[in-house]
Amino acid sequence: MAKQDYYEVLGVGKSAAADEIKSAYRKLALKYHPDKNPGNKEAEEKFKEINEAYEVLSDAQKKQQYDTFGHDGVNGGMGGGGNPFGGQGGFQYSGDMGDIFGDIFGDIFGGGSRRSGGGTSQRRGGDLRVDIEVTYLDVMKGTEVSIEVPRKETCPSCGGLGSKDGSKPKQCPQCKGSGQVRYSQGFFSFQQECPQCKGTGSVISNPCPQCRGDGTVKMRKTIKVKIPPGVDEGTSLKVAGSGDAGLNGAPAGNLYVIIHLKRDSRFLRTGDDLYTEIKVSFSQAAVGAEFEVPIVEGSVKVKIPPGTQPGTVLRVKEQGFPRLGVRNVRGGLYVKVFIEVPKAMNDAQKKYLFEYAKAMGEVPKDAVYQSDNFFKKIFGK
Ligand SMILES: [Zn+2]
Ligand SMILES: [Zn+2]
Repeated sequence: MAKQDYYEVLGVGKSAAADEIKSAYRKLALKYHPDKNPGNKEAEEKFKEINEAYEVLSDAQKKQQYDTFGHDGVNGGMGGGGNPFGGQGGFQYSGDMGDIFGDIFGDIFGGGSRRSGGGTSQRRGGDLRVDIEVTYLDVMKGTEVSIEVPRKETCPSCGGLGSKDGSKPKQCPQCKGSGQVRYSQGFFSFQQECPQCKGTGSVISNPCPQCRGDGTVKMRKTIKVKIPPGVDEGTSLKVAGSGDAGLNGAPAGNLYVIIHLKRDSRFLRTGDDLYTEIKVSFSQAAVGAEFEVPIVEGSVKVKIPPGTQPGTVLRVKEQGFPRLGVRNVRGGLYVKVFIEVPKAMNDAQKKYLFEYAKAMGEVPKDAVYQSDNFFKKIFGK
């Protein structure tokens, strides 16, 4: 049996660009995929042909050999630098299958909404994204939020069929379900989206008035979303199946909830750790004291040991954030100590400080306090 031209197999012109070849392949592979045509030998055969053609036409080197030498160029002697004319035996579909499938089907079954050609097309629902703002307390404790999402639901009037009278969509007569139409002009062949079905491959003769044949309608739906403890700015939470409804039994898309943090001026956050600062007086730092330090859920008492130096960082255990997705792991709260120097003192206070300076040997023992020359005495000027 003579082999069919690879370009014809994929239904593209000889000058088709790589992405055109890829998209033609996708469409056909999805249509003839064994999963969609169980037990259908003809579809299976077709599926093999499509894959064979794509393996050659998607590979720049093989494509060039094929363009130059035809089937002989790619049927044998490849890989070992052999004579391209010495082709023996049929084309073997090799282990590249997995690569092609990862490449092509990853984005069909994994995401996006695309309609394959054919009568009753399945279409996975689109993904949705919502952005929400959470507080530090929410991050600490976790929370549950109700989000109102405008999403596509299966149309209640037609049950997703898209037709008014319950009839199923028919294969588009203009493109025969491929969604693409080709025009030939001299040597050139153009391909474009079918104007009748807008690329979907199917038409509805009596469209449902509520959804206008789409099979889905936009509705606002309230979805409860659990926000786990430990989320951070930009965390994306996937709520599987809460995106747009799929068509004809195809799965719904996902809802992605993107977290934004409401700032809390008391803290800086780095990962699971929180940073804050307290101001203590010189005498408190010198003799030690106990302080109320802010934590996300209120405050805790923290002891400042005697002789605490400016810039000292104290760690309060277990007061940082829980680690996202990890049980019993929490960051810490780091408290930086600032020592405040009084900006203004009255005469009595200055006198005490003078006495202190005297006791520390900073001022001569026999000096007498005089308000105006206090500093001159201390600094010797
Ligand atoms: Zn059409
Ligand atoms: Zn409807």
